[in-house]
Amino acid sequence: MNIILLGPPGAGKGTQAKKISENYSLPHISTGDMLRENISNNTPLGLRAKSYMSRGELVPDELLITIIKDRLSRSDCSRGFLLDGYPRTIPQADALQMILTESGRKLDVVLNIDVDDEELIKRLSGRRMCACGTSYHVIFNPPEKEGICDTCNGKLYQREDDKADAIRNRLVVYKKQTQPLITYYMKKNILRRIDGSKDISAIFEDIKTVLENYD
Ligand code: ADP
Ligand code: AMP
Repeated sequence: MNIILLGPPGAGKGTQAKKISENYSLPHISTGDMLRENISNNTPLGLRAKSYMSRGELVPDELLITIIKDRLSRSDCSRGFLLDGYPRTIPQADALQMILTESGRKLDVVLNIDVDDEELIKRLSGRRMCACGTSYHVIFNPPEKEGICDTCNGKLYQREDDKADAIRNRLVVYKKQTQPLITYYMKKNILRRIDGSKDISAIFEDIKTVLENYD
């Protein structure tokens, strides 16, 4: 299965991606995680991406298209993949279409996780991350030990772009640049809406119901 998780920042894409990836043995490809890893390793890509990300802007399309093309060519994607955070613009979606067509693949489903702005702000401002990619929430999804990752014992931190100014900007950027993808995939008849206002396990049940049709 080739799946895209679409939705505004804070909708719960990473949280659900972890569950889907474990349950269906699909590689979880998060462009945000890949960029953050590049920043921590001080790579040339990380250095270029950093200022865009801390302001809550999108990193230029050509960089994202290059990294996603490379990632999708790896052998672990041959039996399916789960994209989280890509595509975020129409040119990125067009490029994805081309990459998949060239390699004889196609998208099966785009899961659009729908959550209202007020809830997104609460989720983003209380989010705490681990370097291993697991995300928590101080109230809605706390770790067992405060400040420590349940999965790897890493120290949790607050993302630079989860501060108030960057959150506001990310929601504006989402509406302008990413939201048009809803119509884009609706026209291709592969978009499925997921009610993201429910609790984490209820959303996962809804996702499984949708994915059962694609097994
Ligand atoms: P995204 O990857 O879409 O930006 P995350 O998966 O990181 O979003 O979730 C954003 C924040 O909201 C995290 O702190 C996460 O623990 C929390 N969260 C995720 N899903 C839910 C939910 N259904 N209800 C409440 N909080 C949630
Ligand atoms: P995320 O972890 O998905 O919330 O992404 C964090 C940040 O990484 C975004 O706000 C962007 O600055 C950058 N980013 C991640 N994915 C993309 C993408 N597909 N296109 C452009 N920028 C991206």
